[in-house]
Amino acid sequence: MANKAVVSIFFLLIVFLVTVGFGRSNFVAETASSMDLVSDGIDNVRQPSFIPHKPIFLLEETCEQTYGFFACTTTIVGNILLIIVYGFLAHQASKLLSNGRELLLEILGTGIIGGVFLPILGALPDALSLTDSDEEEMGSLEKERTTTGWAARDPSGILSPYKYTLRNTMPEDVFIKVICCGICHTDLHQIKNDLGMSNYPMVPGHEVVGEVIEVGSDVTKFKVGDCVGVGCIVGCCRQCSPCKSNIEQYCNKKIWSYNDVYPDGQPTQGGFAGAMVVDQKFVVKIPDGMSPEQAGPLLCAGLTAYSPLRHFGYNQKGVRGGILGLGGVGHMGVKIAKAMGHHVTVISSSDKKREEALEHLGADDYLVSSDAAGMQGAADSLDYIIDTVPVLHPLEPYLSLLKVDGRLILTGVISTPLQFVTPIVILGRKTITGSFIGSMDETEEMLEFCKEKGLTSMVEVVKMDYVNKAMERLEKNDVRYRFVVDVAGSKLDE
Ligand SMILES: [Zn+2]
Ligand SMILES: [Zn+2]
Repeated sequence: MANKAVVSIFFLLIVFLVTVGFGRSNFVAETASSMDLVSDGIDNVRQPSFIPHKPIFLLEETCEQTYGFFACTTTIVGNILLIIVYGFLAHQASKLLSNGRELLLEILGTGIIGGVFLPILGALPDALSLTDSDEEEMGSLEKERTTTGWAARDPSGILSPYKYTLRNTMPEDVFIKVICCGICHTDLHQIKNDLGMSNYPMVPGHEVVGEVIEVGSDVTKFKVGDCVGVGCIVGCCRQCSPCKSNIEQYCNKKIWSYNDVYPDGQPTQGGFAGAMVVDQKFVVKIPDGMSPEQAGPLLCAGLTAYSPLRHFGYNQKGVRGGILGLGGVGHMGVKIAKAMGHHVTVISSSDKKREEALEHLGADDYLVSSDAAGMQGAADSLDYIIDTVPVLHPLEPYLSLLKVDGRLILTGVISTPLQFVTPIVILGRKTITGSFIGSMDETEEMLEFCKEKGLTSMVEVVKMDYVNKAMERLEKNDVRYRFVVDVAGSKLDE
């Protein structure tokens, strides 16, 4: 009898020590912290290196939602291994002792009690401290969350559901539930790796409009329930000359809304997703009365057209402007330039959009670039041209449309070198320049301007399950003029 009691207590002790050690997943955290990025091996999920403690009795599903697949699987596998190890030890012990069968039953009984109840007991301190810190952290957002977005996995650019962890939120952060997100031509370039810099999985989308769900403790600009926007950039160094001049879009260390990484190594993911966590500096308030679908395309396309007009001093009446290419940026360019009081000429490769440009968008003139007589007639007539064409094209026909000191402002991303002969800029002191989106200050100003002028963008609202088709159509320029994905109204998981 004495032998049996000693053996039982001995095994109880082993079970307690080992399961408590494994169950609290300290071992998972240590394993994980030795790697910068943890892959689950199935979906190439990039996880942060820190995985918090957790009680082992969390349901697998809840556990995975909260801590990610890797941490949970490791812990669950760990516990299964323990049961096997325990069974083996018990079997060996029963062989060593004389009245094996009776003792084996007793040891197994003790083991079951130990295996079920002691791990729970072991995890209790963690469970209790989790509850405590939850209360402390109310409103400070120091927790991790997951969301589902639609990601490209390779240069085919096909988007499909993808679950990932949102980065740890900080006091300056705004937690945003995405309402809708515009599709920009840059999204196409990025998902298909046209610029050779794409990292997968990639959730695109940088014309994001959403609702503020929670704010960090130091957030002053926004409150819960606000309708807000996020554009192309979610971070900058705050030290360099552009940052100090509030033109952070030209910061060399700017952080893109997606296909980029935060300083801690976590990838950024865009707006084709259920939620985003964004520093308040890169969040703007959508003016009251402006619909989310209308506001989305303003955050990249609208801003891209507005910023150079503002910066180069064209925001005044009587200026003669040209808009080359009538896509997402071009159509906003026509509307914004008209609202500033300009005489606006649309220049296009075909006659197809003439009626649209003149009657619906309110342009004053329409030029087809292959119409030599028409182009000749318009020579030396424009103060600026916003060139929105994102594919290789000649510059000289358009440079010749500019007046002395006129500017050709490139806004389309083209990865093939462009060509021109120098006399075309020398004889007329013309400038070829570029402009990249706009600053956060300009974003706010542009939104107010559009609201004041009653400017609307022309959009086609689609659900997420149409996004691949929309990308295909966008590539063929088959949209008037911007697709906006109704994210909140879409099923993101299928
Ligand atoms: Zn864009
Ligand atoms: Zn900077």
